[in-house]
Amino acid sequence: MTFRTRFAPSPTGPLHLGHAYSAMVAAQQALANDGAFLLRIEDIDQSRSRPHWEAQIYEDLAWLGLSWPVPVMRQSDRTMAYRTALDQLTDMGLTYPCVCRRADIEAAAGAPQEGVQQFGPDGRIYPGTCRGRAFPETVDHVVRLNVEKSVEQLGARAFTEAGPLYAGEYSLDAEALVQSVGDVILVRRGMAASYHLAVVVDDAAQGITQVTRGADLWEATQIHVMLQALLGLPIPTYHHHALIRDDAGKRLAKRDDARAIAKYRDDGMTPKELLGLIGLRP
Ligand code: GLU
Repeated sequence: MTFRTRFAPSPTGPLHLGHAYSAMVAAQQALANDGAFLLRIEDIDQSRSRPHWEAQIYEDLAWLGLSWPVPVMRQSDRTMAYRTALDQLTDMGLTYPCVCRRADIEAAAGAPQEGVQQFGPDGRIYPGTCRGRAFPETVDHVVRLNVEKSVEQLGARAFTEAGPLYAGEYSLDAEALVQSVGDVILVRRGMAASYHLAVVVDDAAQGITQVTRGADLWEATQIHVMLQALLGLPIPTYHHHALIRDDAGKRLAKRDDARAIAKYRDDGMTPKELLGLIGLRP
């Protein structure tokens, strides 16, 4: 099987040093494995995505010396694919409409209890208030996955992490998914799909054999592997790289515009110098 990996930025702001690092690691992995480097524009959140940020992604990556096959996959074109995957999970009896608002969820969660985890990789662990609801739902709602039911239907569970931080063979832990992840959102209000659903559908559609991305998404990987297993999609190898830090050792925030690639470029830095700054060679 040909090695295929990807860089999947969201066009909601300028690419910064952390993005440059992630894109370069993915491209270098493709090169080392005689495979392909793909790009995907994760513009699923249309309220925050902007065409000029997408245009700048292409410009910045080309400036770094990267190239990728075209046409580029864009999540805003993929509504039908997400709908099909969602219908598949609904037909399996694994989804439900949830009408809760953030304040309802906080109120239902109540006071923190010792030993009970409150937050997981998808935010506050949902207390299950709407679990008994069924479609069709006329009230404005999101769609959630019933994780307790889902783990009973899991066939495949194994995945490989190839990155330097967590390298090893893993198996999904049903209890951890129920207790520390909970009923994740599959469709958000005003969006065609949640990040979790979109990312697994798209990685499969692009034939990705290795997901290369930052360690901030390591915890979400169990959600992605669970969805892949439920949907019968291939489970790629994962490679989570370290997050680059600034001189003071602080993790670079995704929204730190002072670290925008375009800013360094405008200041006259060469691509080689920028890569040196983040500890990479071109
Ligand atoms: N779109 C995500 C981001 O910009 C990356 C998702 C992924 O690589 O799985 O953080």
